[in-house]
Amino acid sequence: MDDADLNRDRLALALEAAGLDLWENDLITGEVTLNATKTFVELGFSEEEIVSDLQGIYGLFHPDDLGKVKKAVDDHLSGHTPQYRCEFRLRSRGGEWVWYANYGRIMDGNSSTPGKRFIGVTFNIDDRKRREDEIEQINRQLTAQNALLSQLNATLALLAANDSLTGLSNRRTLMELGVNECKRAQRFGHPLSVMVVDIDLFKAVNDGWGHLAGDRVICAVAQTCLARTRQGVDTVARYGGEEFVLVLPETDTHDALHLAESLRQAVAARQVLVGDEGATVCVTVSIGVATLRQGSDLSFEDLVKQADKALYQAKATGRNNVQCCAGG
Ligand code: GH3
Ligand code: MG
Ligand code: MG
Repeated sequence: MDDADLNRDRLALALEAAGLDLWENDLITGEVTLNATKTFVELGFSEEEIVSDLQGIYGLFHPDDLGKVKKAVDDHLSGHTPQYRCEFRLRSRGGEWVWYANYGRIMDGNSSTPGKRFIGVTFNIDDRKRREDEIEQINRQLTAQNALLSQLNATLALLAANDSLTGLSNRRTLMELGVNECKRAQRFGHPLSVMVVDIDLFKAVNDGWGHLAGDRVICAVAQTCLARTRQGVDTVARYGGEEFVLVLPETDTHDALHLAESLRQAVAARQVLVGDEGATVCVTVSIGVATLRQGSDLSFEDLVKQADKALYQAKATGRNNVQCCAGG
């Protein structure tokens, strides 16, 4: 065995152990001078069926990969890339797509003559690709599940913070926001007013028109309160059945009383549709107002209690009116 034979055997052993299939193209004639036989056999083709021209080989590539492969070849042949590398799917004899990779380079040239042989190896990467696909699919599912979870969390947060009938802040949210607003007003010495609004003789609406009609009236009063307050500044909350609390930052007693009076009038002027035949109901509200005095360390809860006391006075003096707490 001479050195050339020994080198060939060494190369064959290395290729076999690494699972590599050697190929070679003559760049001058465009001929395939050494075919990647092992790959074709692996794909189920017999020795006679092995395609040995470039067009035939390209015919086995997945249509989505062919452009990418041709570009990788061109990029190397035109000297843009030091090696030719690409991953692609080949059609097996049975019609299945199998993932392979190519690694090659122009050889046989020297400093004055460009190489005329394009030599490379093909190797099977199907297992790796399938695992990658599985991971990608799992990741896609996880992303979709995460999006759903965030959506559910947002809905849950909304449900936990808001009253389901009116959509207003619920009592819990009111207490949290109110405590913060109170502290802020005290820290900066700014005015803060609180209003308790209660629908007058509401039981009569329920008794006369039914609970659903009562619900409509509650929603109408909630809307009127929202429409008269500053979005993103004031808080309107449903405090109880037919009772609302408004937190009004930067609002002194004078402004709060003015707002309360306009709210009272707006509710009284509103006709609420309660029946299918166009029947409407009018209600009035009584309102108690309390304002945090400068330098006062009153808690938010106590401020609400003062507004509630004023509301009691409003009820006692005939309802459909506004009263203000003297303290604060
Ligand atoms: P006042 O002028 O003294 O406030 O009299 P009122 O009838 O409004 O007060 P009262 O506290 O006697 O009645 C309130 C009623 O509100 C009793 C309760 O059944 C009803 N209510 C509470 N929550 C809801 C609700 O979500 N929907 C309806 N339709 N009614 C409710
Ligand atoms: Mg009432
Ligand atoms: Mg009440």
